[in-house]
Amino acid sequence: MKSAPIIITIDGPVASGKTSASRRIAEIHGWAWVSTGAFYRGLAYVAKREAISLDDEDALSKLCASEIWEVRTSSERTKIYLREEDVTAEIYSEEIGAAASLVSRYPKVRENLLAAQRQCAVGVKGLVAEGRDCGTVVFPHAAVKIYLTAGSESRAERRAKEEGKNIEETMNSQQLRDRQDSTRKAAPMQIPAEAHVIDSSSHNLNEVVELINKLVMKELEL
Ligand code: C5P
Repeated sequence: MKSAPIIITIDGPVASGKTSASRRIAEIHGWAWVSTGAFYRGLAYVAKREAISLDDEDALSKLCASEIWEVRTSSERTKIYLREEDVTAEIYSEEIGAAASLVSRYPKVRENLLAAQRQCAVGVKGLVAEGRDCGTVVFPHAAVKIYLTAGSESRAERRAKEEGKNIEETMNSQQLRDRQDSTRKAAPMQIPAEAHVIDSSSHNLNEVVELINKLVMKELEL
């Protein structure tokens, strides 16, 4: 009988460094990696392309199961295909991030994307999953749960630099998204009960990866 996969979850607000850190942890251990935000970004992007209103919960929840689009994991990026076209490059903008935050507030949408998110842990030795509710809802029995955060200024600086945008505008849109994500009724962003909280404000990526990896090694007795 195959043993259950090792699951590590990394949740946290916008631009806290979850994606880079979680990807590196997966790489170190040879585990699979998934960004659960890509499911919501993909749905929002496909809805826009198909002219489906971001206010139409029924249409959006039907679209979750539609065969016209697909999420595929890879070690670099969680990819989105629309009618076999790779549209990944188009989903990681702040505009689609904001749209993702709107579609993600619907309970039916969240429910309909859950099985596909959990499927990422099937047939793998280990999985590192990052998002907002990975430790609370998607993988509540994860072996190690991390909540990665950082001050709003350093998060805005980080993302503004990456995207060549204004810091203040970036901070405003991040604050709005974090507020929506943490105050919605369905699976709000929150610190999982058993999570280790890490503040990355004064650490670079290597240091954050080291901190997380130490916790992972210790808890898994590796
Ligand atoms: O992490 P990322 O910025 O790609 O997430 C985009 C949006 O998707 C978030 O702002 C949030 O609204 C939603 N999301 C979520 N639950 C997750 C991951 C992302 O609601 N587990």
